[in-house]
Amino acid sequence: MKTDILGLHHITAIADNAKRNADFYTSVLGLRFVKKTVNFDDPSTYHFYFGDGQGSPGTIITFFPWEGIGRGVNGAGMATHTGYAVPSGSFDFWKDRLAKYGIEAAEGEIFGERLLSFNDPDGMQLQLVVPNKVDDRKPWVTSEINEGVAIRGFHSVTLTLRDAGATIGVLTDVLGYRQVMKVGNRFRFEIDTVSTANIIDIIEDASAPRGRNAAGTNHHIAFRVKDDVVLMEFRKRVLAAGLDITTKIDRDYFFSLYFREPGGVLFEVATDNPGFTVDESLDGLGSSLRLPKQYEGRRVEIESFLPKL
Ligand code: ZN
Repeated sequence: MKTDILGLHHITAIADNAKRNADFYTSVLGLRFVKKTVNFDDPSTYHFYFGDGQGSPGTIITFFPWEGIGRGVNGAGMATHTGYAVPSGSFDFWKDRLAKYGIEAAEGEIFGERLLSFNDPDGMQLQLVVPNKVDDRKPWVTSEINEGVAIRGFHSVTLTLRDAGATIGVLTDVLGYRQVMKVGNRFRFEIDTVSTANIIDIIEDASAPRGRNAAGTNHHIAFRVKDDVVLMEFRKRVLAAGLDITTKIDRDYFFSLYFREPGGVLFEVATDNPGFTVDESLDGLGSSLRLPKQYEGRRVEIESFLPKL
């Protein structure tokens, strides 16, 4: 029963300017624009999905671009770093490319894996990581980013927490991750049900400033399950652990549950079904504005106040 989480499903973050955000993730990083829709709770705001060619779970980063919101603070109680897997030998390409767009990148190493750290235009902390394990996921490629260097999908997410204890309990006892390494105040957890997008790191820092959600910060991370039957098993498991959790929410492209883990990070559990081709063909993913049913009747009005891309 504990093998039911299949690594990460998606990561959702906040941006400021919509066009700048879309240009960065599609043009600079070369991800596919998988879905262009609106915030279900606020249709005057976009909801963007960027990922691989199919919109595969474990590759999808989503953004709410809130024009004028200003920068948040990456700090405690938050997923502070998002890591993408890239092929060995691709760092020179990425350093040149990021420099061309005026983005500083620093080389480093975490748990024996080399990485390139940089920020997106809103201050989101990103990493390109060469995994020690082979990552054979087929990437989305563009005219400027070929298969030899392209981003494969997520490698890991890093949570920064003042006290990691209770969060580790949720990761291991409820979600089925296991601790594989610890150096100083940094922990690494993996889940064995999948071989990619299956790492969560924790930095435990009692003096870290409290994070504040606005542009350049993570809103939540979503763990992947196969379908809504498994999803509801997790609902029981989270409740049994004494945590509050939402009822099942229909996000049109997946079904979701949300709960706040004890360290303050908003966790979601999301399903593979029905997926991103439910309202667009595979070839046409991300090419037009998709509206949830309840807003389709207001399309002209909504399109008139969404920022131009
Ligand atoms: Zn989500």
